[in-house]
Amino acid sequence: MTTIPAFAPQAYAPPFNSEITPPVSIRPTRGIASPQYLWPQNATLNISLFNMSDKAKDYIKERIKLWQPHTNLKFNFIATPDGDIRISGRGDGSGNQSVIGTQARNRPIDQPTMHIDLVDKTAQALNHSIRHEFGHALGLEHEHQHPDNTIHWNKKELLDATELLGINEAETKFNILTVFDRNTTIYSAYDQKSIMHYSVDSELTTDNIGVPLPVELSEGDKAFMRSLYPPTLETPAS
Ligand SMILES: [Zn+2]
Repeated sequence: MTTIPAFAPQAYAPPFNSEITPPVSIRPTRGIASPQYLWPQNATLNISLFNMSDKAKDYIKERIKLWQPHTNLKFNFIATPDGDIRISGRGDGSGNQSVIGTQARNRPIDQPTMHIDLVDKTAQALNHSIRHEFGHALGLEHEHQHPDNTIHWNKKELLDATELLGINEAETKFNILTVFDRNTTIYSAYDQKSIMHYSVDSELTTDNIGVPLPVELSEGDKAFMRSLYPPTLETPAS
């Protein structure tokens, strides 16, 4: 099972990244980020989880915390639903979504900034989705839209495949085909192992080269995150 990203076209405001599960595979620094959406250095992010069981909360928290050692941000999980990052877990088939970093401030406080679809998901899909969506929440963009990506999309096949999933052409372009502008993003080397990359079905490319679904933070993801929010050095024991 692979994940095709489907976002609201840029013209829609505010963009809410929506990941969709397609019948085919589509699909990181190493990373790419939009600097205007990064959180302040050393910020404490209050994180709310709701519309899910306590077990699901623990499962998601455990995976979110994997980003922690690679940032100087503090992840503070709170019991009320009014956090800086508000994660809903309802299983209504609406897919996985997150705003990018501080875009969360533009959403009404009573609305989630991230959604994790907990219904009928394999452990592999959840492992990808939770890490991936929280990467968006920290300010990361899609690696497959990196200016140096090497994917040779068969655009007609891709558009046909996404149309079958109910994703229109504008969304497919916004979430998959559009390549980020070098002048408005921060990026390092293109990394197909990034958690921010979608899987790519080889049948949707002109060179029959696909990309497997990443389920772990790559070394590039860790290094890129550390460059965005450099962890403070530990004070040597005196
Ligand atoms: Zn995404």
